[in-house]
Amino acid sequence: MLFTTNCIMPPRPSYVQHLATTAEVGWPGVQHIAADDKGRKDFSGIIAQAIALGGWKETKPGAYELMTGFAHNAVLSVADKVVAAVKSGALKHIYLVGGCDGAKLGRDYYVEFVEKTPKDTLVLTLACGKFRFNHLQDQLGDIGGIPRLLDMGQCNDAYSAIQVAVALAKVFNCGVNDLPLSLVLSWYEQKAVCILLTLLSLGIKNIRIGPSLPAFVSPTVLNVLVEKFGLTPITTPDEDLKALAG
Ligand code: SF4
Repeated sequence: MLFTTNCIMPPRPSYVQHLATTAEVGWPGVQHIAADDKGRKDFSGIIAQAIALGGWKETKPGAYELMTGFAHNAVLSVADKVVAAVKSGALKHIYLVGGCDGAKLGRDYYVEFVEKTPKDTLVLTLACGKFRFNHLQDQLGDIGGIPRLLDMGQCNDAYSAIQVAVALAKVFNCGVNDLPLSLVLSWYEQKAVCILLTLLSLGIKNIRIGPSLPAFVSPTVLNVLVEKFGLTPITTPDEDLKALAG
């Protein structure tokens, strides 16, 4: 397993020999693959190690396939279908449900939220929070061939989600905040701070956030975020779906 980015938790000592890191990621005791002076990286060692391990001999009962990687190019390649679906009324709203996962209670909210999204809506998802519900792809079905649940990748792919929003706003000749698009984010800490600040600096408003507020949000900061950006703590999936659908 090669870590290229994202948050790394302390690995089990029994697994350390199966791990490698590269770029900015590193962990004491884990082999690090650095670039040489020409910028080349030698992955042959871990490739040979992976091949030697041989993989799994059989499929685990209950295992399923997941379609992921709907980055902005994939979504925008069906932009005409998305636009046509919005214009015909087959697609009424797009929810971006994503963010970090965590052990704290309250994160079932996001599973229930996605399960309860109406059939004429799409859900874009990304980052660790998606692992709670991205297996619902089959259950949620599709709208005219577009899967209702599009897994866009990891938190760094927030860039892709922003590109989709900006492109749709261009097509509809409106601002991102005027689109039938709602962001419902699950919060933890770490680099998610940068992602939230990016969204705010782009002027994206009315983001729902939970299950708890970021640690840096004092009552004074919260007032500013609520007044200027409409940042709103999540309540219940039913209440929020009702409020956001409007
Ligand atoms: S979603 Fe959050 S926890 Fe997961 S890799 Fe990104 S910043 Fe880290």
